[in-house]
Amino acid sequence: PTLIIAVDGYSSCGKSTTAKQVAARLGYAYIDTGAMYRAVTLFFLRNGVELDDADGIRRALDSISISFRFDPVTGRNETYLNGDPVEGEIRMLYVANAVSKVSALPQVRQSMVTLQHQMGKKRGIVMDGRDIGTHVFPDAELKVFMTADPLIRAERRQAELLAKGTIVGLNEILENIKKRDHDDTTRAVSPLRRAHDSILLDTSYRTVDEQIEWVIQAARE
Ligand code: C5P
Repeated sequence: PTLIIAVDGYSSCGKSTTAKQVAARLGYAYIDTGAMYRAVTLFFLRNGVELDDADGIRRALDSISISFRFDPVTGRNETYLNGDPVEGEIRMLYVANAVSKVSALPQVRQSMVTLQHQMGKKRGIVMDGRDIGTHVFPDAELKVFMTADPLIRAERRQAELLAKGTIVGLNEILENIKKRDHDDTTRAVSPLRRAHDSILLDTSYRTVDEQIEWVIQAARE
């Protein structure tokens, strides 16, 4: 049976939307690894942790706890940083702009991957991120690699932010997406790569429901 579904791909392709719904349909746990890196970034920003201070980073990582709670009524997956809900805050652009640098730190990645392995032990999981199929769970039963046209991704992200009452220009969002694609694919430690045994899902011209159905079918095969 499919117990671990790895969903990797570029920023803003609909990975979390798809992964969350697939998990709900299969009765699996959903783990958003991007939220983990964002939560660490938020902690670093709030506490003035310098990225060249190895001891400070170690102390920070030792004092961070991250957990998730899925609310089936709202469909919202709340992220907790040391017990405080931070889901809203970690989606802000100032966190998105800092996350690539923080997630490129080997210490940070090691600590998050350890946590991800622990979270994956219990039962069926759908885990989304950048390196799940290549690095975190190379033996995952199903690996999905998601991609979409950058402009379409930017338009979707803009609509999402607008729905939450935040107005951000399309260019600013497009620049952030392109920069993150670049940073994620060129970093030294576990860069974003398509796993050789993954199936490719281009979401440019697919609806969310089609994407979900597509992954569920693949999980059943
Ligand atoms: O998925 P999301 O866009 O929320 O991820 C935020 C950032 O966290 C990514 O741009 C990437 O730099 C980092 N990340 C990572 N490895 C993962 C998941 C996310 O480096 N497995």
